[in-house]
Amino acid sequence: MQFSNIIGQQAAKQHLLDSIHRGRLPHALMLRGPSGVGALQLAHAIAQYVNCQHPTDEDSCGQCASCRKISQAIHPDIHYVLPIISKTTSGKAILTDAYLEDFRKLYSAEPYFSFEQWQHALDGDNKQLMISVHEIRELKRKIFLKTFEAEYKIVILWQAELIRTGAANAFLKLLEEPPDKTLILLTCEDPGKLLITINSRCQQVALERIPKALLEAYLVEKKAVEVAKAKEIATISEGSLSHALTYMQESHHELNELYSSWLRMVYTGNYSKIQQIIEQIYKENKEFQKLFLAFAVKKLRDSLLFQLGVPEIALVTEAEKAFQQNFSKLIDADKVEQMVDLLDESRRFIAGNAHAQMAFTALSLRLHSILRS
Ligand SMILES: [Zn+2]
Repeated sequence: MQFSNIIGQQAAKQHLLDSIHRGRLPHALMLRGPSGVGALQLAHAIAQYVNCQHPTDEDSCGQCASCRKISQAIHPDIHYVLPIISKTTSGKAILTDAYLEDFRKLYSAEPYFSFEQWQHALDGDNKQLMISVHEIRELKRKIFLKTFEAEYKIVILWQAELIRTGAANAFLKLLEEPPDKTLILLTCEDPGKLLITINSRCQQVALERIPKALLEAYLVEKKAVEVAKAKEIATISEGSLSHALTYMQESHHELNELYSSWLRMVYTGNYSKIQQIIEQIYKENKEFQKLFLAFAVKKLRDSLLFQLGVPEIALVTEAEKAFQQNFSKLIDADKVEQMVDLLDESRRFIAGNAHAQMAFTALSLRLHSILRS
């Protein structure tokens, strides 16, 4: 991963390059930003740059042995600490190293893979992933060994908010007294969930949501998505490339079918049908559930444009037009606002590990009463 492969994040890249060139790179960086904006990818780009054998002022070469190994996540001096399902075999804790092959597979297939894909790869769709104290002890053991071949030993710790308290305390010691020529790169979506002492010992690097235009261009140029669809995906992806890629894989047609039949049943109050549709949504992973809700927000706003008599502003396909025209007769700006609030709230609940089936059931009931009020 080179800096040039990172979508957006110009300010962060420039800041990092300046620090490196002035010899001011601190020993610990906290790369923080919403999911899917590129924190894990930027960590790899930094690791690759500081260890590159032929770097330019702007980027690593991408060709030398070090660059090639880091881009395949097989460099012996890059130590990964990843959130995993905590378990033991014959009394010994299973650690990140046992899952590195899974990580490499995902990362090489698509560097901007999502946390939900990682969870799924570990067979942990509905399980809580975490970073345990055993993991940090093992990291300490490895980090004080000699480097094999690199200039810098690198620690990439992904999703620092998933560090358990005991592990966080053990990790603090490492942050206070790291071995020489060691660079600790943490990523985090929600620094509020971290020990203040961990935050304060890392230089903070804030990542931004990726601008819509960049997401759209990326989907069109790199993934051969049609312009109209790319626009729509970019609109509902909240600046996250991981979200956009997940969304890209869902057939737009099926998503729209699911949305319109759900809303029809919500309006008529057909609860057994609503349950069947919720079952379908529930079977998919959390990422899909969140995207479905984002899609619903987008479609509701489109309905409002129909209701206001400006359907040409809405990005809808021919197939969606009839539904939107009919549905727009049932709503007004006030109802849409209330419904959008509920959809956003449900999305936050699901992101925060609420039970999806219950969240969707409650949502359906409340939307029904708004639509019928
Ligand atoms: Zn290189």
